[in-house]
Amino acid sequence: MRIILLGPPGAGKGTQAVRLAQHLGVPHIATGDMFRQAVESASPLGRQVAGYMEQGELVPNELTDAVMLERLEQDGAREGFVLDGYPRNLDQAAVLDEALARQGASLDHVVKFMVTGPEIVERLAGRWVCPACGTAYHLVSKPPRTPGVCDLDGTPLVHRDDDKEETVLRRLEVFGRQTKPLYDHFAERGLLREVDAIGSADDVFDRLLKAIGA
Ligand code: AMP
Repeated sequence: MRIILLGPPGAGKGTQAVRLAQHLGVPHIATGDMFRQAVESASPLGRQVAGYMEQGELVPNELTDAVMLERLEQDGAREGFVLDGYPRNLDQAAVLDEALARQGASLDHVVKFMVTGPEIVERLAGRWVCPACGTAYHLVSKPPRTPGVCDLDGTPLVHRDDDKEETVLRRLEVFGRQTKPLYDHFAERGLLREVDAIGSADDVFDRLLKAIGA
């Protein structure tokens, strides 16, 4: 199955994407995670993207598309995927369409995560992640068993740099201007499924499975 998860920052896409990919047995492909890894390893790509990420701006399409096109040819992505964070604008959506057409493949579902503005701010402010394995926690809705460390590997949790308030506001603005038009784009093609993304991770996951008929 080929699925895109769409929604503003803080909608809980990352958590659900990991679970959904496991459930379906397909790779979870998150451009944000790939860029963060590149920044951490100080690779040439990392040096190119770090500034954009710190500012809450989109990385230029040429770089992002190249990373995604390469990934779509690797590690089982030809058989299916859950995309989390790509496409982020109409030009990226067109690039993805062409790549899938070349593979003779097509999208099955595009899921819209619906949340309210205040909910987003609340979620992002309490969000902590494990820098080693990427597991996300929340002080209120999903606290780690031991405060401040990852349940899975014991690594101290960190607050993502781009979850700072100023950057969050910028990311939301960029989402509204660049990414939101994708809702109409995919709705017109009959691919959009809406999911109420407020509530526990388990409840949202149940709704997500229903929405895609899995
Ligand atoms: P995310 O974890 O998906 O919120 O992504 C974190 C940051 O990585 C974004 O704020 C952008 O700077 C960059 N990024 C991730 N995915 C994309 C994309 N598809 N296009 C451009 N920039 C991206």
